[in-house]
Amino acid sequence: MPEHQQNLFGEGFNEPEPWELAAEEDRWGAEVALNVPVDQLFSYLVPDPLRDKLHPGQRVKVPFGRGSRTMTGFCVRVGPVGKVTRKLKEVAEVIDREPLIDQQMLDLTEWIGKRYLCGWGQVLESVIPAGVKKLAGTREVKLYQVAEGVDENDSRLTKKQAGVVTALLYADRPLRGDELADAANCGTSPIKTLEKKGILVTHNERQSKFEAEIGHVEKEQDLKLHFEQMKALKRILHSVRGGEHETILLHGVTGSGKTEVYIQAIREVVSYGRQAIVLVPEISLTPQTIRRFRSRFDSVAVLHSHLTDSERHYHWKRIAGGDVQVIVGARSAIFAPAPRLGLVIIDEEHETSFKQETTPRYHAREVARKRCQMLRVPLILGTATPTLESWRRVEEKQDVLLSMPNRVNGLPLPPVSIIDTRQDQDIRRGAAIGRQLVNGMKMALKDGGQVILFLNLRGFSTTIWCRACGESVKCSECDISLTWHRDRRKALCHSCGFETDPPEACPHCQHPGLKYVGIGTQKLEQEVNARFPGVPCVRMDSDSMRQHGSHDRALEAFRHGKTKILLGTQMIAKGLDFPNVTLVGVIDADTTLRQPDWRASERTFHLLAQVAGRTGRSERGGRVYIQTACPEEPPIVKAAHHDFLGFAEIELEHREEMGYPPYSCLSRIIFRGEIDEEVQAGAKEIATVLRETIKETGADIEIRGPAPAPIVKLKKFYRHHLQIVADDFETLRELWLVARDIFPTLSNVDYQIDVDAINLR
Ligand code: ADP
Ligand code: ZN
Repeated sequence: MPEHQQNLFGEGFNEPEPWELAAEEDRWGAEVALNVPVDQLFSYLVPDPLRDKLHPGQRVKVPFGRGSRTMTGFCVRVGPVGKVTRKLKEVAEVIDREPLIDQQMLDLTEWIGKRYLCGWGQVLESVIPAGVKKLAGTREVKLYQVAEGVDENDSRLTKKQAGVVTALLYADRPLRGDELADAANCGTSPIKTLEKKGILVTHNERQSKFEAEIGHVEKEQDLKLHFEQMKALKRILHSVRGGEHETILLHGVTGSGKTEVYIQAIREVVSYGRQAIVLVPEISLTPQTIRRFRSRFDSVAVLHSHLTDSERHYHWKRIAGGDVQVIVGARSAIFAPAPRLGLVIIDEEHETSFKQETTPRYHAREVARKRCQMLRVPLILGTATPTLESWRRVEEKQDVLLSMPNRVNGLPLPPVSIIDTRQDQDIRRGAAIGRQLVNGMKMALKDGGQVILFLNLRGFSTTIWCRACGESVKCSECDISLTWHRDRRKALCHSCGFETDPPEACPHCQHPGLKYVGIGTQKLEQEVNARFPGVPCVRMDSDSMRQHGSHDRALEAFRHGKTKILLGTQMIAKGLDFPNVTLVGVIDADTTLRQPDWRASERTFHLLAQVAGRTGRSERGGRVYIQTACPEEPPIVKAAHHDFLGFAEIELEHREEMGYPPYSCLSRIIFRGEIDEEVQAGAKEIATVLRETIKETGADIEIRGPAPAPIVKLKKFYRHHLQIVADDFETLRELWLVARDIFPTLSNVDYQIDVDAINLR
């Protein structure tokens, strides 16, 4: 009996509700994780007819609460009950014929529930794709086999029937009726007769109707590595062969050839018949990235957010069957059910999209770390601009640091000029592009180069503003200024999607004639077209790239030089590799810096360093102009010097002083409700309970707030938050487990804890 089936219902025994006592012996029981926000499992008896059908990882229907109400949950353990002193309810139904996930993934999801303070059932519900639960894209087929002990010489067989048996014995697997009829060159009637006589036996199985179409990709040889790449690869292979977990931070400047190192590390893992997962930010899942892996490996699965349920299920099955060598995908691909995972790589480790912003609010980097620890395989974090969390870990020697400080082919990082927008006449008059940048663009274009312009605000005018009262027009549901989208002639809320005709007069003071201010990408595009007539320009942001595939087409056109200027939001900031780009202009470096968030500085540095990395990628060289009104701010100055170490030093000192991560574990509770006063009062009550618990337990934890969240109103809901700053996660967890049991019930207010919060809005 596997270990996890023993000692069931010992400690931690739970029941759905108090129940009369009775002795139960020699019965089979199951523990079920329900989709509820508690750190608790529920115990049920398994009726005898279901005993062989139920395994951990399958969903069950169970009675829950009063009356005949049932709930669906995941069976996470089954086994003999032994002596139980309480009477239990019974599992009503087993939903899945086979487990949806294996024991290893059960352990991982259990850990996520504990680490992010949510229910195990909530985690399971979220990480197993809907298409897998629904068996999307499959059909039930009946398969034929020859009964035991029968061969083609059996005296009961006619000649035709003997042909059927022979065909089936020669096939190396059970066959469908139509396949069998084909193979035996007969009709269906001999098959039916044989089935009736018990000479053929049948069983049902689910088969995919779906075959993923993968266009032919020309195979390519691995590149000969440069010295720095070789050194990094050697160290990674040492770890791969070592059979112990290590997290390796591969700090390589943009263009240092990190991907080639990943590929050759995967090559080794694949040669053992094991699999690798490569996580990249969703926006980096471009055809270029995918082609790089498909051209090197025979079997690559790509998991992106546009997959249909059927496609997702198909890939999941193939991965679980061990047929896929490399899985490339965004955040949730960390849950790919690879049976013999040998390596996980997270590219662009600093990207905030690796944190999930709904329950379970996990960080893929931490989940990957845990999964790799459990499997004793390495985790590689690759980036030019590490997070300060990862940087601190290597400083403390918890993780291994590998550096690639030079670009391949020895090309230098591009020179960066900081332009003070307060001194620029054109910008003061309302232009987006200052004199220096315009001149730079003219020169670059004249020399046959291409230009990238980066502006992290979409729409036309970012604010509709009343000069009489100074108020801006806000979304009626959210506390957010509406953005004017001239192409659609609508004012849009970028938070909830609300759209409206712009008002004629100020909604606050009725003063007529509102002013449209602030520059978004659409206005920038208009300015570029006006100042560079006849130069083909393409805008990339989530408005212009709505259609599936338009993103890829725009990039292809730019790659082939059909468009000369590419402008857009952070969609174009990262990962792109275009040798002919000789100028990058940052229109307004201060958009991220202005965010009311202690991570604003780090985010600004990351973004600028990444944008700057888009040029100087060939012998043609390249340069970068950063327009800012704060030319002395450290993240801007350090990014301009490509000086991550310098930035990390300044910022870590600041974080330590302020008690922010990585020197603490900072979590956040977000309260939400339709009536502001109720939300505020609820937040206060919970804060009081937390503070009193801290006083009683003497824990070293600080509660900040409650305070209105930076976005006070979002989609009708008022929002308040409080921050919990603890030395480490364990301290926080202890507080949470004690305090949660005595939290008052709040009516009309819901709240969630976000452990290691990244988004503080
Ligand atoms: P990074 O991910 O570090 O920014 P990339 O992996 O995109 O860098 O590599 C930059 C460019 O250098 C790519 O075009 C890649 O094909 C090329 N490259 C990488 N390694 C080598 C090598 N050993 N020899 C030649 N070209 C290489
Ligand atoms: Zn809104």
